[in-house]
Amino acid sequence: APRKYYEYLHSLNDRQREAACSDVAVPLMIVAGPGSGKTSTMVGRVLTLLKEGIPPSNILAMTFTTAAASEMRDRIAAVVGKAVAKEIIISTFHSFCLQLCRAHAEKLGRTSEFVIYGHGQQRRAIIEAERLLEHAKSDGLGDAVKQDDGDIKNSFKDKAKKWLKFVTQAKSSGKSPEEYEKKGDLAGASILRHYNEILVSCNALDYHDFINSSITLLTKFPEVYKECQETWQAIVVDEFQDTSAMQYFLLKLLASHNHITIVGDEDQSIFSFNGADVSGFDSFRRDFPNHKEVRLNKNYRSTRAIVEAATALIHNNTKRGHHKLAETDNPSGSKITVKECHSEDSQCAFVIDKIIETTSSSAEGCNFGKVAVLYRRQITGKAFQVSFRNRKIPFNVHGVAFYRKKVIKAIMAILRTTLPGCDDGPWRQAFKTLLPGDKEEKKKIIDHVEKISLARKCSFISAATDIFSAKVSGTFKRAQITQGRKVLSTLYSLSKFVEREQSVSAVISSVGNMLPQQYLLEKRAVIDNDGGKFLNEDNDIRSVLQFLMDDVSDFLSTHFSSSRDASQIEEKGCASTLKAFIDYISLRETENFRSRKEENKNSITLTTIHQSKGLEWDVVFIVQANDSEIPLLHEYNGTVKEAGSTLEEERRLFYVAMTRARKKLYILHVTVDSYRQLLPPSRFLREIPVHLLDMQGEGAATKKHEQPSGDISFDHAEGETSIEKPRPIPEQNETSPYPELMQTCLANDFLKRFEIDDRAVVSHIFHQWAK
Ligand code: ATP
Ligand code: MG
Repeated sequence: APRKYYEYLHSLNDRQREAACSDVAVPLMIVAGPGSGKTSTMVGRVLTLLKEGIPPSNILAMTFTTAAASEMRDRIAAVVGKAVAKEIIISTFHSFCLQLCRAHAEKLGRTSEFVIYGHGQQRRAIIEAERLLEHAKSDGLGDAVKQDDGDIKNSFKDKAKKWLKFVTQAKSSGKSPEEYEKKGDLAGASILRHYNEILVSCNALDYHDFINSSITLLTKFPEVYKECQETWQAIVVDEFQDTSAMQYFLLKLLASHNHITIVGDEDQSIFSFNGADVSGFDSFRRDFPNHKEVRLNKNYRSTRAIVEAATALIHNNTKRGHHKLAETDNPSGSKITVKECHSEDSQCAFVIDKIIETTSSSAEGCNFGKVAVLYRRQITGKAFQVSFRNRKIPFNVHGVAFYRKKVIKAIMAILRTTLPGCDDGPWRQAFKTLLPGDKEEKKKIIDHVEKISLARKCSFISAATDIFSAKVSGTFKRAQITQGRKVLSTLYSLSKFVEREQSVSAVISSVGNMLPQQYLLEKRAVIDNDGGKFLNEDNDIRSVLQFLMDDVSDFLSTHFSSSRDASQIEEKGCASTLKAFIDYISLRETENFRSRKEENKNSITLTTIHQSKGLEWDVVFIVQANDSEIPLLHEYNGTVKEAGSTLEEERRLFYVAMTRARKKLYILHVTVDSYRQLLPPSRFLREIPVHLLDMQGEGAATKKHEQPSGDISFDHAEGETSIEKPRPIPEQNETSPYPELMQTCLANDFLKRFEIDDRAVVSHIFHQWAK
């Protein structure tokens, strides 16, 4: 539809249009700040590729989150129609590489049914590798069964942590065992080698393997390289700043035809802990010398106050890419509200008050979808979930928390046992889930099965089969044998059911029916330790299952969109769809995932800053902006990274958070934590010019149902400034931390830290404290 294409181009500014329409054979790099329309331009670029006659199924678009992928697909669909948009491969690095590995699994020494190892399974493999290493070192320790001895096991576990870190680092930098050998690190080389062997023998790949193995496929197998070259005629990459060196290497291999567009912003690089590396921009400049570089310099997203504040903040970073101009034609908007709260509870209360105030005063009617609450750590979101639920405010939680739930893990493990070549992990977990009795009892049974399987060097499930079919007897009571048999037969019939059944949803609901009563009754026990008491409602197995079902339909609609894939499902039946679904869920555990279906448009978004990348909302609350949270202090006490670089990354994170807001930004910090420890506000607040801030102390404004005075609501017109009307005297709290707080703050030279020179503000804050 050329008319719509031109209409789209028309919506872009000159520079954006120039970039989108530039010669498709020339590598293109777009570098620009937040909200400058990079993603919008990238969509234009894809449209140009289509217009130039590149078939949609030969275009590969890499996004950082699945949410970004579906948003991009929608925007493309609006111009070229759904059918064409569906053919384009819009994918994250991980899922792209996973597909590639599956397609050529036998070249990697696996079958296409290989399983994906998550953190837990990786750890088990490491412990095993370590055992092999120790075995080689000293014969005395070698006896596998002996390891069940508690102390030895524990010391293994401690070391395992260290080794896991080592293996992760080795893999994310693509280092081979030989390289460690050369450096003289024999233990490291051996662990890595054993670990890799274990994965091969278990027919498994871990997350890092996806990238590394894809590189292996492209470099060692010319036919794979050729096939990829022919298939991926054009590649576009969003959020390029968060690509790791290995991912970049892969891109380079894929894009040797030069039809590549990368889009990014060095200042928003926030995944260096995952190996992301901003030097990718320089590598790109070097590796594609004939590339064209476009800079966008106008922020279309945020008010001037927000743009200025964020720019001032990021200015404190020394490691920055090319300097970017940050301008905006948007109105200056209201000041950024910095709110001090005395407790996490009052922080929640303030956010809720403001949300109710802004949504009810909004002319377009109540729209919760325009509001987000951002935090540094997942755990902070929990308190908000509870309060929102109590106040009946609809919300969506982004992130992986749901997939970390024990009940989901249990269901997934049971599902995995139905796949051919399933290894010990899922079997063990399935037994743990399905056996009746208390934790101790189950543990005894499972430990015994494990012991037998180790002694006989057979799999968990064959040991279990032997034990419960009473070929080995003596250890268990009759009742326990009966229970074990029941579990075996349940799992067996499930795998038969999968063979017969066509629908994944039916399989999942039958797994739901298999779960023992305690999953319904002992609500707390069902949830992961950190979810505990908060998530009672979600623990209802039915609602969890419903969520999972929604995911199935979401998955089917997005992953089997092209006709090619659809015919594959019909051919292979449910087992292969189930397999793909399990992959999809496994990816969700680590990726920054946001599903469309589980999202209600008219809901507040609760998310970590990391997962807010690329998104925007009218009103944004950054909560718990304390010095222990952002920057996250204990992290850079570690030895791995120098404090400075981590601090800069934390600042970039704060920058990403601030620049998500379109009209109004609130930054909240609390003065004491739940143990009454005093918490200083984030040091980044000091880096924002005071004239852009509206500093608010704790006052009656946070008391429920009371209209705050002197605050500005977000949709007031520009030009209005904050008015410090006298506030009602705060209620006296018997355990008020004020006096102590005041002293400490004075001692900390709190006011100076904030560079507050406005006397009125000083006296106001003082008044608050003195009360
Ligand atoms: P981020 O760095 O956060 O990913 P971005 O550079 O990708 O941001 P976009 O998300 O593409 O920015 O655009 C930000 C907002 O600005 C969007 O709401 C988009 O619709 C709008 N926008 C982009 N370009 C223009 C334009 N030329 N005219 C009007 N609005 C625009
Ligand atoms: Mg973007």
